[in-house]
Amino acid sequence: MCREHRIKVTPQRLEIYKVAIQSKEHPSAEDIYHSVRAKLPTISLDTVYRTLSSLERWGLLFKVAVVDDRSRFDADLSPHHHVICTECNNITDFLWPEFDSLALPEDVTGWGSLKLKASQFVGVCSKCDAKNKNKVFSIRSSAQ
Ligand SMILES: [Zn+2]
Ligand SMILES: [Zn+2]
Repeated sequence: MCREHRIKVTPQRLEIYKVAIQSKEHPSAEDIYHSVRAKLPTISLDTVYRTLSSLERWGLLFKVAVVDDRSRFDADLSPHHHVICTECNNITDFLWPEFDSLALPEDVTGWGSLKLKASQFVGVCSKCDAKNKNKVFSIRSSAQ
C-alpha cells in the first residue's frame, strides 16, 4: 500500500502503524509514543504526532473521537461502530450490519464525499456504573 502511494517506509512510520493496528484500545498519540519507545527509544512525541497525521491523510487510520482532550486513533478500517465510556475513557468496538446497509438520507448523499460511515454512542459502561453505585453506597453508609 505504501509503495502504491509512493510513501517512504521508515522504521518510525512502520512501528507507529504496527502499534496502532495491533491495539484494540483505540490508543492516543501518547499511548502509541510509550509503546513505540520500547523499540525506538530516541523517537519524539512530535514525530509520533506528525506520523499519525500522515497516516490519517493516507487513509491508513482515522481519529475515532477526542476523549479527555486526547485524540484517539483506530487503524481498523473494517465497518464498525464505537461506544465510549466517559468515566474510564474506554472505546469499545461493536458491529452493526443493519446500520451499515441502511440507505443514507438525502441530506448526506448530496453533502459531499464521505470518508467514514460510523456511529458513536457515549455513556457510562456497566463496570463504571457498578463502581459509581458502590461509591454512593459507601458515602451513605459512612454518613450513618
Ligand atoms: Zn467505563
Ligand atoms: Zn474501532
